[in-house]
Amino acid sequence: MIRLRRAAIVGWVLLLAACAPGRVARSRGPAAAGPVALVIVDGLDARDLTDADMPWLAHAWHAGAWCPDVHGIAAMPARTNVNHATLTTGVEPEAHGITGNAFWGRSGGQPRKLGAADDFLVETLFTVAGAQTPPVRTAAAVGKGKLQLMFATTASGHAVPTDIWSPSDAAASEREPVTGYAYDAATLAGARKLLDHTPAFVLINLADVDRVNHATGPRSDAARATRSATDRALGTFVADVLARPEWRHGTVVVTADHGFDAVAHAAIDFGARLRAARLDGTLVSVSDGGVAHVYLRRRDATDAAATLAPNPLDGGDAALLGRVHPEWRLAQERSGDLLLVAAPGYVLADADEARLLGNHGAPGELDVPVVVVGDAERPAGGCGRPRAADVGATLFGCLGLRPSRRLDGAEVAETDRGHWLTGMCRISGRGAGS
Ligand SMILES: [Zn+2]
Repeated sequence: MIRLRRAAIVGWVLLLAACAPGRVARSRGPAAAGPVALVIVDGLDARDLTDADMPWLAHAWHAGAWCPDVHGIAAMPARTNVNHATLTTGVEPEAHGITGNAFWGRSGGQPRKLGAADDFLVETLFTVAGAQTPPVRTAAAVGKGKLQLMFATTASGHAVPTDIWSPSDAAASEREPVTGYAYDAATLAGARKLLDHTPAFVLINLADVDRVNHATGPRSDAARATRSATDRALGTFVADVLARPEWRHGTVVVTADHGFDAVAHAAIDFGARLRAARLDGTLVSVSDGGVAHVYLRRRDATDAAATLAPNPLDGGDAALLGRVHPEWRLAQERSGDLLLVAAPGYVLADADEARLLGNHGAPGELDVPVVVVGDAERPAGGCGRPRAADVGATLFGCLGLRPSRRLDGAEVAETDRGHWLTGMCRISGRGAGS
């Protein structure tokens, strides 16, 4: 019997295939009148986008040409790789397959990181853009080196951005020594160089806010100072970009991959608890910040089939992930059979992980700002709350690209496709986003 601290872990749900109301992506059509940029301020919680700390971005949010003060919903789990994958494919995690920053492959071996290009089950925007005739020029400037691995060429057919800038292109003084992440000023300088090649789309990941939030907590003085510095650099960058002649009808979307929670308690090492209870031969735990995936080791295929079926003793499918949280769209074989969710202030981490004062991954960290600067228009039908997959699907539409397809040739289920967000970019000759 494992004793869990009830205060520490608020919920657990089991895995089931998806079923939810239909969602529709915009099909291929004319492209936006100007280029489009997606700036991901890594780890910027909507609570932390304040007039005091980030005056430029907060003003752009309040005055939004598209949907003023709109809050987006990040994909679950609220992790970097999950959300960069969702934003760049326009489909939900159960379709693209990046269900966390790490997972266990169910076939023996150790848990491993998840989010390299080879792990994707669908095409990214860069792949679809590269397959167009003629190819649509794209670029990416990323502060985190692992995101370069996410957008790499693979044998299964992934294509890279036309141009990419990563921390390996920065001078040593432009990288934070422990993480190796590029400072935001360096990443934005790298992005400026890429813009000289006139891409139709550029992705930018700014790592400073996330890095300092982890180290000092998201509401610390250091985190606030970092947000202010990022705000100043980003405001100058966006003004310069939109002043370029080719960006006269350009659109810049600024959002975050996830929010942030302040860690107030010692980390919960669920794997250690399994070992202490001598259950590690039966269960595998993979910690991922605000969540942990727990997998049942199966002896053989018959055993696997039996354990994947809903158990009547547990109330049938009543506790399964697709029933309890269909909005997470996380019913994927790579998700744990049991998903532990940390309560606010708690974090699930292995003993060898660094002790952090800020972390993210749970449903409390899904609230992110969505700010649109440049050519955009208020949608007549109202704004609602866009999901990360909606923002991604809309970027495909802005560029005139067809939606992402599964690499195995099957169609992405309608329920896993993001919605077109009217007005986020202005479609050439047809009014904004029509
Ligand atoms: Zn992140």
